[in-house]
Amino acid sequence: MAIMSVAAARRAEAIGRTVTVRGWVRTRRDAKGFSFLELNDGSSQGNLQVIADQSLSNYADEIASLATGSSISVEGEVVASGGGKQPTELKATRVVVYGGADPETYPLQKKRHTYEKLREWAHLRPRTNTFGGVMRVRNRLARSIHDFFQEDGFLYVNTPIITSSDCEGAGAMFRVTTLDLDKPPRVEGKIDASRDFFGKPTFLTVSGQLEAEIFACSLGKVYTFGPTFRAENSNTSRHLAEFWMIEPEMAFYDLNDNMELAERFLKRLIGDALRDCAEDMQFFDQWVEKGQIELLQGIVDKPFIRLPYTEAIGILESCGRTFEYPVSWGMDLQSEHERYLTETHFQAPVILHDYPRSLKPFYMYCNDDGRTVRAMDVLVPKVGEIIGGSQREDRLDVLEARMKEQGLEPADYWWYLDLRRYGSVPHAGFGLGFERIVQFVTGMGNIRDVIPCPRTPGSAEF
Ligand code: ATP
Ligand code: MN
Repeated sequence: MAIMSVAAARRAEAIGRTVTVRGWVRTRRDAKGFSFLELNDGSSQGNLQVIADQSLSNYADEIASLATGSSISVEGEVVASGGGKQPTELKATRVVVYGGADPETYPLQKKRHTYEKLREWAHLRPRTNTFGGVMRVRNRLARSIHDFFQEDGFLYVNTPIITSSDCEGAGAMFRVTTLDLDKPPRVEGKIDASRDFFGKPTFLTVSGQLEAEIFACSLGKVYTFGPTFRAENSNTSRHLAEFWMIEPEMAFYDLNDNMELAERFLKRLIGDALRDCAEDMQFFDQWVEKGQIELLQGIVDKPFIRLPYTEAIGILESCGRTFEYPVSWGMDLQSEHERYLTETHFQAPVILHDYPRSLKPFYMYCNDDGRTVRAMDVLVPKVGEIIGGSQREDRLDVLEARMKEQGLEPADYWWYLDLRRYGSVPHAGFGLGFERIVQFVTGMGNIRDVIPCPRTPGSAEF
């Protein structure tokens, strides 16, 4: 007998077919002589209504007492629904019960729990409407990311997770070691890293960019999509210690090309989610963030604002608002400033570019003004920074000088400098935080609720 998903069995085309559907019972309602079971298998936001008649052999023993959370398989005919919102229902001819779920202890009963509470049950929360929806949107976005780049001639490359170079002082790094932490080998009081597994200190990567540049400077257009780790002790709603990042890197691109790509990319991801996750997006619009669909549609339809950092400072200084951190040229913009620009002043995504060079890492291209570098950050309402990128410094002498200025030893980056020594080309790229885009699309307020297993300071269950 054909196995069918709940999503497929809910469509009118399924009417008349005899199928098996398997999943978890959301609710059971009893009527005279039969029961309604709401069945969900993760394939869609909506449930399939199952009608189980008392003539079924295990009706009295099992079906009539089925509890929320139980797993079952149902054979039957898909019929036109007698009423209600969905076009179909399943008339059961056989119901097999796999596992029960004691209502005294199973946490996901009818009552709506807070997201904080659900984080304690991260292993069960994908069975809720919200987290099922988040995971389906996350999946759609992941697929769109690959589609977008593959259709545009990019190569997918995998950069290392264990690294010996600190990309940008982007945040504190997690050390990777096999040394005995109780009695590590020492020379002159210091830990002897030459006796560690790799013969030198190694860390979990904070960004694949430097390695992605190798492949851009040989294969043209590439992108990475992989895990990234930052040991920053920031307990915010937008930071994780382990997150996924997408990093395109393109030879022969300047900062304008980079901005154009970032805008096209974000619009494609949002547009795909609105079209292909319509039911989930309706759910988020209704239950998580009112007006979410309209906000996203507006972002797809309107051009992003492009604004030099220096002009942004002018706007912030003269806007009449008092910020917690006072504004002056040369400062790193705080979340309150970024959000003022994108949410209040422009009410649109803003690409801030040409930042003070003192704020940015060594690899960003230095402008002729001597004060700024060709950096860009894409800011969006509610989330703030979603993308950070730049045109890279492709002049050997300038790059070496910048490294020294920032206290880095050029010899440690010999391979990176070789890319400028042999056939150097202008190139550019950016990083999109995957969980930030999932957050932005779903409207979920906390980044911990858009990743399967959130890792944050003090928390790494299973
Ligand atoms: P922020 O200022 O928000 O801390 P950043 O400037 O340190 O971010 P980048 O080094 O530019 O971040 O990283 C590129 C992108 O990765 C960011 O634009 C953001 O989308 C994402 N990102 C950075 N840090 C985190 C984090 N700790 N958790 C989740 N996503 C992150
Ligand atoms: Mn950034």
